[in-house]
Amino acid sequence: MDQPNEVLQRIDPKDLTACDSCDLLMKVPIVGTGEVGRCPRCGSVVSDPKFDSVDRTFLLALSGLLFYVPAVFLPLLTLDVIGWKESGSIFEGFIALYAEGYLSAAIAVLLTAVVLPLVKHGLLLFLSVCLKLGFYPRQFEFILRLHHHLREWGMDEVYLIGLLVTLIKVYGMASVTYETGFFAFVGMVICTVGLSLTFDAGHFWSRVEAHRKETP
Ligand SMILES: [Zn+2]
Repeated sequence: MDQPNEVLQRIDPKDLTACDSCDLLMKVPIVGTGEVGRCPRCGSVVSDPKFDSVDRTFLLALSGLLFYVPAVFLPLLTLDVIGWKESGSIFEGFIALYAEGYLSAAIAVLLTAVVLPLVKHGLLLFLSVCLKLGFYPRQFEFILRLHHHLREWGMDEVYLIGLLVTLIKVYGMASVTYETGFFAFVGMVICTVGLSLTFDAGHFWSRVEAHRKETP
């Protein structure tokens, strides 16, 4: 019978993946669409193939970018408190915080609500266009890793919840008119959530690795 270290020696280290939760090195189990492969030690999901990931990622990232400009630069809401009207966009919120001297809050809004949604949708659009065209630039793997590290930092869903809580609080105190930016923002959040359900990083990695093996 094989000793465990002899078995390990026969496995190419390139075929091993570390579990995100417990760092166990394993060969990722091959499962079909709609099934999940789990880590044998801690049970975390290590393989979760998505149906038609490249095309769906492409369409959602493109739609997210189209929603991005009105969502960030057009007014979200107009509040009317006994004749006193106030409206503003996310970008104007950043400018106002900066002008009032709240530098750290201004930088947080700039990064999480202005820069990161653009970067995340842009990276996924770039990766999916590359796969659709069969074009694998040298930066492909770097961009996949960058997206992996940025995935927890998109805050647009959190901002939407904050906005809804604010609306509930001012309900009755002010009349609220929903502006174009609000609907674009909801559209962008729907694309972000959609991308988290359709983007299959494992599939993108296996496509680029297969290509690199064919053309060393
Ligand atoms: Zn694990």
